[in-house]
Amino acid sequence: MSDTPDPLRMLLIVPCYNEEANIPLFVESAEQNLKEYDWQVLFVNDGSHDGSWDAITAAHERNPRVKGLCFARNFGHQNALKAGMEEAWKDHHADVYVTLDADLQHPIEFIPQMVQAWRGGARVVQAQREDAGRKISFFKKFTSRAFYGIFSWLSGVKMQPGMSDFRLIDHGVLEFVVSCRDKDFFLRGLLPWSGLKTEVLPYTPKERQHGVSKFTLKKMCALALSGIVGYSVRPLYISIVLGMVSICLAMAYFLYVLVVTCCGITTISLGWPSLIATVLAIGGVQLFILGILGIYMGKLYMENKERPTYVIGDKTK
Ligand code: UDP
Ligand code: MG
Repeated sequence: MSDTPDPLRMLLIVPCYNEEANIPLFVESAEQNLKEYDWQVLFVNDGSHDGSWDAITAAHERNPRVKGLCFARNFGHQNALKAGMEEAWKDHHADVYVTLDADLQHPIEFIPQMVQAWRGGARVVQAQREDAGRKISFFKKFTSRAFYGIFSWLSGVKMQPGMSDFRLIDHGVLEFVVSCRDKDFFLRGLLPWSGLKTEVLPYTPKERQHGVSKFTLKKMCALALSGIVGYSVRPLYISIVLGMVSICLAMAYFLYVLVVTCCGITTISLGWPSLIATVLAIGGVQLFILGILGIYMGKLYMENKERPTYVIGDKTK
């Protein structure tokens, strides 16, 4: 691990979705900042609609350190990471692997610090985004913190805020990752779950160079849901809690009706509204629980299919 002879072999794994303008800048930054390493970069084109693949092949022709994989369509960021890691395991062995974004928000000049932490004995070096002083909407800050809190609580896997997919891992960790057969790949949860020795390094993200964020609210919700469902069955237990709460409420209400009727305090005249409220409340609870069951069943159904989670349409030599 840490006694590897220099130059260290390093592979950058970079998912790209419509990042045409950022790819040449990314390669330029790698050429400038990674001179001391024997580096390669593997771009995974996640079904871009712009000229990202042309930009990758042009960069490959100019510099053979640049490699590329091209998905047949958009399969999502986590699948692009998975494909990059599986390809690395097959054809691009290195001493360390760094996953990072193509938009240069994850600064390449920070990588030497990550290597130092790895040389110090960490198996996983996780970069933690520092949001202080950045212009982030209250909504994004709130939802991101809420997700990390809910995920940690439900799964029992400690995940701190600001953990994006900017990290360095060694060859042994890569072997562990590719051995996991999860169809619903969620690397941010898998590595903390593994318990492998991790060092967290705070970094300040840069502004996106070109284009806009591809993580729409829908994509963020899908990622959060697959993280929670993939690492916890606690939401399924919610039906037991809600069932017990409604039994207790029903018993309390029955006692109340019994007491007021027997003591002649009042005759119950609110029959219709209370009946409707109870029917609606119980119906809502049942639908809610059915929804949770449905999510897990859907995931089971998809996991059971022997279909691959991505399809590679093309790749560089
Ligand atoms: N990305 C991808 N597939 C997608 C969405 C995003 O490969 O379906 C890539 C994107 O090109 C970038 C990284 O994932 O390299 C992070 O995306 P983005 O910068 O849009 O996310 P943000 O930084 O806004 O969270
Ligand atoms: Mg970004």
